[in-house]
Amino acid sequence: MTQPTPITVARGDGIGPEIMEATLLVLREAGANIAIETIQIGEKLYQKGVQAGIEPSSWESLRRTKVFLKAPITTPQGGGVKSLNVTVRKTLGLYANVRPCIAYSPYVKTKFPKMDVVIVRENEEDLYGGIEYQQSPEMIQCLKLISVPGSEKIIRYAFEYARQNNRSKVTCFTKDNIMKLSDGLFHKIFDQIAKEYPEITADHMIIDIGTARLADTPEQFDVIVTLNLYGDIISDVAAQVAGSVGLGGSANIGDHCAMFEAIHGSAPDITGKNIANPSGLLQAAIMMLVHIGQSEVAEKIQNAWLRTLEEGIHTADIYDPALSRKKVGTQEFAKAVVERLGKLPEKFAPATYRNDYCPIELTYQRPSEFDTMQRELVGIDIFLYAANTQADKLAEQLKTCETAALQLSGISNRGTQVWPEGQPETFCTDHWRCRFDSKSAAMRYQQVIELQAAINAKGLEIIKTENLYKFDGKVVYSLGQGE
Ligand code: NAD
Repeated sequence: MTQPTPITVARGDGIGPEIMEATLLVLREAGANIAIETIQIGEKLYQKGVQAGIEPSSWESLRRTKVFLKAPITTPQGGGVKSLNVTVRKTLGLYANVRPCIAYSPYVKTKFPKMDVVIVRENEEDLYGGIEYQQSPEMIQCLKLISVPGSEKIIRYAFEYARQNNRSKVTCFTKDNIMKLSDGLFHKIFDQIAKEYPEITADHMIIDIGTARLADTPEQFDVIVTLNLYGDIISDVAAQVAGSVGLGGSANIGDHCAMFEAIHGSAPDITGKNIANPSGLLQAAIMMLVHIGQSEVAEKIQNAWLRTLEEGIHTADIYDPALSRKKVGTQEFAKAVVERLGKLPEKFAPATYRNDYCPIELTYQRPSEFDTMQRELVGIDIFLYAANTQADKLAEQLKTCETAALQLSGISNRGTQVWPEGQPETFCTDHWRCRFDSKSAAMRYQQVIELQAAINAKGLEIIKTENLYKFDGKVVYSLGQGE
């Protein structure tokens, strides 16, 4: 027998320890060749004042094993405490969140018996950078960051995943009709990478209509790839529509490590009652087995689990007197799966996982043209805090600050142009974007500093600035609505 694969296990909070016990029983009995290192995370550590919810020694275990099977934890509400899930994903560089949303009809109720969708969600960028600032009494900013490497990796991952799992279509969801630069970049990279996978159908939908279609006709989707926030929302929509929030597992994949968990939380309302469904964590563990190259064991467990479901042996959350035969507790359900190890389902199609599966390894190559790209500073957006004022009055003051190099070209409030030619109906907050364009061919940043000094001398309050660039002669900043 080959050496067991080391994995790190955290039993978590609430129902975590119960469902982990059930899951590990099935793994053990199925012959998973793993060596477990246990770490503590979550509530007990938060209570001890460890704000990250994880101790430094646990990172060592995760770096050593590179594979993490994690039960849900309880996230304390309120200030100071960081989300452990976000911390683990970002610290370990787990850039891809993969969530299969599958209907198990007729044994689990769903309106869409044929639904079989995999959501591939970007996991590190977008609005989840957690970079937020209060800039004025009326305005808070949260930065949405979309990078070329981040987009390229997740999109390539989605296509590789589709190829490895014999899936025929990848759909990209963005909102690039509104966020033309950030979401537009994601869409553009999707179109470029899709060309490298001619055997896979690629299409794009605006996130709002895409989500509506996903809730209405999920059978039309196969793999969906999307940005972090949209992915967070649609993966819950898809799991709910599949009828199986309690049955879903997810994988968080990075270049060096991977984390596997159920999609549900710690369910404090049913903790300690032996009624929780361990299937979500078991599904995550099956994804983990495939990831570490133990596809045969994964298959054996999945087939026994399908057989248990179709024989009507159900936990309380999916028990339905019309469909189920026996209501069982958490540990009894696990034992029922163990009893069926080696059997195939009779109604569901048996699961088959590739034996030659290997983790998808991607390397990002910074395009050489990025280093020769001409970046030309052509102006500056100066954000001001000004209460109880009007755009025309502000423009009058700013006009007196203009320098030979930089002249006021527009003022917008919440992205809508209010000077020149503002509309009286537009509501204005105390947060103003004042755009100054360069009139000289080769603008220098020193000229921005001189302009800021002039504005400051007038007693106007600068909150922040954004440089306006042309890249290779192309405007790469947004215009105000109405501009
Ligand atoms: P939840 O998923 O824990 O529970 C929602 C509902 O689903 C509850 O009624 C619960 O009893 C039920 N449920 C959940 N899992 C079940 C299972 N396996 N079997 C049967 N029923 C199940 O969501 P919540 O109540 O919003 O959150 C509880 C705690 O979990 C919070 O502290 C939250 O922050 C945390 N949480 C953690 C994770 C994670 O660790 N990955 C994910 C989501 C929520």
